[in-house]
Amino acid sequence: MCPGYSGFVPLILDGNRIRDQIKAECLPRVQRVIAHAGRPPGLAVVLVGNNPASQIYVRGKTKTASELGIYNETITPSADIPGDELCGLIQSLNGRPEVDGILVQLPLPKQIDEQRVLLEVAPEKDADGFHPYNAGLLATGQPGLRPCTPAGVIEMLKRYEIPIAGKHAVVVGRSNIVGKPMAMLLLQENATVTICHSRTDDLPAICRSADILVAAIGRAAMITADYIKTGAVVVDVGMNTVTNREEAMRVFDASRLEAFDKRGSLLVGDVHPGDMARVASAYTPVPGGVGPLTIAMLMRNTIEAAERRTGVA
Ligand code: NAP
Repeated sequence: MCPGYSGFVPLILDGNRIRDQIKAECLPRVQRVIAHAGRPPGLAVVLVGNNPASQIYVRGKTKTASELGIYNETITPSADIPGDELCGLIQSLNGRPEVDGILVQLPLPKQIDEQRVLLEVAPEKDADGFHPYNAGLLATGQPGLRPCTPAGVIEMLKRYEIPIAGKHAVVVGRSNIVGKPMAMLLLQENATVTICHSRTDDLPAICRSADILVAAIGRAAMITADYIKTGAVVVDVGMNTVTNREEAMRVFDASRLEAFDKRGSLLVGDVHPGDMARVASAYTPVPGGVGPLTIAMLMRNTIEAAERRTGVA
């Protein structure tokens, strides 16, 4: 239960506010790298093909990097690039001294082996924290570059002074980029962690035992009131687009339904927004909760990589 919870008004965990704090903290660190190394931290983004959603995500990342004074470039190979050639491209980025962070925007086209490409990124430049070497550092509790979204969730909980140690945290989802690292990070903060997935028996009962419930599933508003203990802290990582009106009627209240009718689609998390607001003591809204933190943490990882590589840290 989050501190100060009266049983009536839940605390809304404002991702935009935390993002702004993290970005503000990045600025002097960028200046320190420049003063020490004579150049800013550098981020290379590899965007393969023309996936419109990926293009939007990458624009968001490079725009934020530019705002913070981080050198950035986007390399845009065509969708039919052979895997070997893409690996060669990443090797050349590994060898460039002014590039501290490399990010390969996912998903990659079907013909490319994603795991092989991610393995190619030098672990010390792995801005997304997806390399198995960095996953190993996380699993063994050693410092390293952490996956941005789960690291952002921890940042959010800490800055809102939500107790983690000793609490039962349930993570629904076991992907390598969200669920598993989320569980590891919560464990590192001394939570007692349960990981659930599509084969978990009686998911609602396990979720109802959570003090901190993290949903990273990819199913629109799947987590309803019967999954949430009264007063739990709920973190909704999911980002799903609802386009069907019947589904919208199940998920949204009247004001958002009006917005849905105007636009024809609307973003929703993995948790039912009305149920979450009614039952939780604190929760991350969608949009405006976890989402904004991912880019901020990517910037922090890039700066951290630059600090290590240039000897500032
Ligand atoms: P993913 O790779 O598809 O993994 C989804 C996980 O959910 C899997 O472990 C899957 O279990 C589990 N799952 C699916 N259906 C389930 C069910 N009915 N009951 C219980 N578990 C179920 O997805 P992801 O990349 O981790 O992303 C999860 C969500 O987070 C998506 O909505 C994504 O858009 C969002 N996301 C948001 C951000 C952000 O910045 N806010 C960043 C990344 C992802 P199995 O392993 O058994 O298949």
